[in-house]
Amino acid sequence: MAVELAPDPDVARLAERTAAFVRAVVIPVEERLGGVARTESVRAELQAEAKAAGVFVPHVGVEFGGHGLDMRGRAVVFEEAGYALLGPLALNIAAPDEGNMHLLEAIATDEQKARYLAPLAAGDVRSCFAMTEPAPGAGSDPAALATTAVSVPGGWRIDGRKWFITGAEGAAFAICMARTSGEPGHAGGATMFLVDADNPGMKIVRHIDTLDESLYGGHLELIFDGCVVPDDAVLGEVDQGFRYAQVRLGPARMTHCMRWLGIARRAQDIALARANEREVFGAKLADLGMVQAMIADNEIDIAASRGLILRACWELDAGRSAAQATSIAKTFTSEAVWRVVDRALQICGALGVSGDVLLGRFLREVRPFRIYDGPSETHRWSIARRATRRHAAAGAEVRP
Ligand SMILES: Cc1cc2nc3c(=O)[nH]c(=O)nc-3n(C[C@H](O)[C@H](O)[C@H](O)COP(=O)(O)OP(=O)(O)OC[C@H]3O[C@@H](n4cnc5c(N)ncnc54)[C@H](O)[C@@H]3O)c2cc1C
Repeated sequence: MAVELAPDPDVARLAERTAAFVRAVVIPVEERLGGVARTESVRAELQAEAKAAGVFVPHVGVEFGGHGLDMRGRAVVFEEAGYALLGPLALNIAAPDEGNMHLLEAIATDEQKARYLAPLAAGDVRSCFAMTEPAPGAGSDPAALATTAVSVPGGWRIDGRKWFITGAEGAAFAICMARTSGEPGHAGGATMFLVDADNPGMKIVRHIDTLDESLYGGHLELIFDGCVVPDDAVLGEVDQGFRYAQVRLGPARMTHCMRWLGIARRAQDIALARANEREVFGAKLADLGMVQAMIADNEIDIAASRGLILRACWELDAGRSAAQATSIAKTFTSEAVWRVVDRALQICGALGVSGDVLLGRFLREVRPFRIYDGPSETHRWSIARRATRRHAAAGAEVRP
């Protein structure tokens, strides 16, 4: 089966414009702020510049101000945006808003799109996605979902606790996953609800102090305490939340990979610049075998990640579930970007751990990616189970 990897010319031009925008506008701001934007004014300024440059929200449809990129198109453009930590924020393709836009575009009603998607795509508001719960609730095993939503006259009452909810403070609304049938520990039925930030039943408990800081708004713990929402707050159909989560999570896994691949390339470029100029023991670092090995391994990790991402995106664009391909690409890329940034830092010596270059910041930012969107171990477990089932289903013909 032929897999087409080359982007079409319009996408290639958009990627070039994105790369130029990131270098000219975003990197100077990123260097000034140490890679972390903490104020709405920075977000608004960067997004205004991205709109002016014609690179804003490339993934959403033209009617919402975007370019309607398919997943392969996103792979090319998002990698360029990810070349700077603040690039995705500038283009309004950062997590969790980008994944929420994708989900809303796929399953929201026209009224919900007008009310939630349109302002989100315009950058006028932010959002969050509330699924994970403290133990014993939902984490790598979504079937443990403990937050409940029960039917009340005219709507639903949500009760439960969520944590690690990125961007929850200042978000205009949350997409909250709650159990509407079955018991924790069994899949049962979950439903997604659109909860407005001014709902008195949804409260912020605390900001969680984490290793990473660049995902805008940080990560929060929330409580849903008698949180009543109307019937039209249901996103999609009741009890279909686990299915919709896959609509969001498969592509969202890939877009995270694309953005972090950009940072891996940036780290490699920083290391290459250093290797080409720094001399030790009478030779350039770039001419020393062990440094060459690290440079080569970085090139291999970057190229292999890109290939796996494109392959998974091709399956998603073809309308397949791509469960195996996205698990493989996510596991490999999340570990590869860590290796690349770590080697780049090593090549730079003490400079690498200093604030003079952003490699230490990059290292902190990429580490949690081996946990969110499914920890590596969860994906390996799923990959192995699919492989053994496939082998069993094939029967005697493929016996060794
Ligand atoms: C920075 C960050 C941002 C996040 N943002 C959001 C957000 O916006 N919204 C949201 O809902 N959630 C968010 N999360 C939560 C994230 O999705 C969960 O952390 C993730 O699903 C793992 O769940 P857990 O932390 O409960 O780990 P657990 O489920 O407790 O798993 C712990 C460990 O068990 C191991 N493990 C898991 N499965 C298996 C297996 N099958 N076999 C062997 N070992 C296994 C892994 O090593 C795993 O790391 C975020 C997390 C982080 C770190």
